[in-house]
Amino acid sequence: MKRCGVFYSLVFIFITGCANQPLYKETRIVMDTFGEISCYGPSKADAVKAMDAAFKEMERIEHVFSKFNKDSEISRINSQAGAEDVITNPEVLKLIQDSIYYSNISEGSFDITVGPLMQIWGFVHKNNSIPDRQTIEGTLRHVGYKKISIDPEKLSIRFLDKETRIDLGAIAKGYAVDRAKDVLISHGIKNALVNLGGNIFALGQAPGRISWNIGVEDPRNKARLLWRLRLKDRAVSTSGNYERFFILNGKRYSHIINPITGQPCQGIISVTVVTDSAESCDALSTAIFVMGEEKGLKLARSIKDIQVLILKEDGKIINYP
Ligand code: AMP
Ligand code: MG
Repeated sequence: MKRCGVFYSLVFIFITGCANQPLYKETRIVMDTFGEISCYGPSKADAVKAMDAAFKEMERIEHVFSKFNKDSEISRINSQAGAEDVITNPEVLKLIQDSIYYSNISEGSFDITVGPLMQIWGFVHKNNSIPDRQTIEGTLRHVGYKKISIDPEKLSIRFLDKETRIDLGAIAKGYAVDRAKDVLISHGIKNALVNLGGNIFALGQAPGRISWNIGVEDPRNKARLLWRLRLKDRAVSTSGNYERFFILNGKRYSHIINPITGQPCQGIISVTVVTDSAESCDALSTAIFVMGEEKGLKLARSIKDIQVLILKEDGKIINYP
């Protein structure tokens, strides 16, 4: 069996800015992937300080939302909410409520209760294998966003099934990018790119230009660009089957799972979404990956100001609008 490395997200690398002003850059591993901030600061000291604060914010969010860290708030919810109401904080409750919103608009294709499915396909402990039909059917009984019950007044969450578990891996990186961008702004930064594993926010523009120019690589041939984007105060995210996957008997199994069938999604290589927030790009790129071309485009048509690029396994490329 072949499996991919964990820190592997390869979509957007090509960035052009402008010459005269120095571009400051810092890279750290955050949320199990590469985080990179590039910015133009009033001074080097200001840029370095702002980037450090933005990384600290992403690290804080990782600590709250990580499913791998036993001390995270998500782990606490996962271990207790099947048995009792768990009082949490407004930030966690809001991201869970946002996730439920994306479940509703995607007819359940986006679903943070995929946790137990991620487990049986071996994506949690990196021990991938193909579960048998009974195991999948048994696990599906604990999956479904309607099993999450929230009381916003009490800030409490409860799972209606004691084995339900949540996994915010499809939305938390985008959320972290939005927050990191806010931290940069609060430090006086006007022009920056925040990239966390292919979830990008383009703040302002490169000096002397009207936008940031970002190239979306073709995952089948990294020397080629699939899409050239000019982004100003916009976000872009890609979900792909080439990031985390395993191959068994020549078949590729992706880490994005259809919560209705319990099977890793097939047919699409990548979905790239552009909107005004990294959180919505992150959630919608995963949702459309699961929904496929037809339903995914129907969802895109219902959303204002969205751009979508779908690359299918048969080579077809769909560009919306
Ligand atoms: P992304 O790379 O943003 O598409 O997110 C993929 C990650 O989200 C996976 O590694 C899982 O942690 C989680 N996930 C998998 N399938 C789904 C799904 N159908 N809905 C929501 N989250 C999912
Ligand atoms: Mg996502």
